[in-house]
Amino acid sequence: MLLLSFLPSAALSQRTPPNTIITKGYSKMPFKYLPVQELCAGGDAMEVSRVEPWKLYVPAFRMAPGVYNVGGNTWMASYLIDTGAGLVLIDTEIQECVYLILENIRSLGYDPKDITDIFVTHAHIDHIGGVAALKALTGARIWLGKRDLHFINNTNLVGAALGYKCNYVPFEPDCFYDDNKPVKIGNIIFETINTAGHTPGTTSFFFDVTDKNGRKLRCGLHGGIGINTFSDEYFEKTGEDPALRTEFAEGLKKLIDTHVDVCLPSHNNQTGPHLFVDQITEDFNPYDDPSIWKALMEFSLDRFENAMGKK
Ligand SMILES: [Zn+2]
Repeated sequence: MLLLSFLPSAALSQRTPPNTIITKGYSKMPFKYLPVQELCAGGDAMEVSRVEPWKLYVPAFRMAPGVYNVGGNTWMASYLIDTGAGLVLIDTEIQECVYLILENIRSLGYDPKDITDIFVTHAHIDHIGGVAALKALTGARIWLGKRDLHFINNTNLVGAALGYKCNYVPFEPDCFYDDNKPVKIGNIIFETINTAGHTPGTTSFFFDVTDKNGRKLRCGLHGGIGINTFSDEYFEKTGEDPALRTEFAEGLKKLIDTHVDVCLPSHNNQTGPHLFVDQITEDFNPYDDPSIWKALMEFSLDRFENAMGKK
């Protein structure tokens, strides 16, 4: 019952989401054929997610063996990874959407209480808003990039400075990532890289899974590509260090040539994986395509440089 106290009454009245996906603001065109800008335009998704999250509902789907997109909406993302010895959840979205994540995990036949570890990419409310609720439900260890620690009790940094109006309950992280010490959970070794910029502690994840033919697939998740934290106004308002701009660009340049078979976007609207669900078969995985990672990294660097007036 503790969990329910976090949820708004509107969400409780809609425990079973209707099978509809609102695509307002998005294109249905596949990522490969579409300028990524169109998918990245958030539109009014931020507000719809907070007030009527079921309208963006997307059922869970598999992106790689044992790796499921359980975010439950077209805008934010959350991933469930079956390590063979407990479940890992990457990102929790806003607390108003936690019930959709739980519905999705259960629909796959898993028990959310088997989540042992929650990795957060960075301390913005659309990634950590659900942490307190999920910690209360699961008791999972919470992992954070240490450089984001000062965000946790600062609502301005967590979201107010970005215009988010979601409910937020602070939490205590249990562990910090160490780029020199991959995190081994069950059969999976999670390598982390601090990709500072969007926030100081933004963390990216790389790990291998094996398909039924014994082939290894490299999964990669860049923890934060948004450029909404690079304006002079943002730095003045928050007191954060403008040198984060340089760190952001350097991080992307390093990752452009990294080989990633399956790109897990930190927001679903970055690459639109939910638009490809119909293509998934036993023998075909539409997400197994290294060009998606490369395109997303190139797009992110390009967008940043354009915004900074360097092009
Ligand atoms: Zn963010």
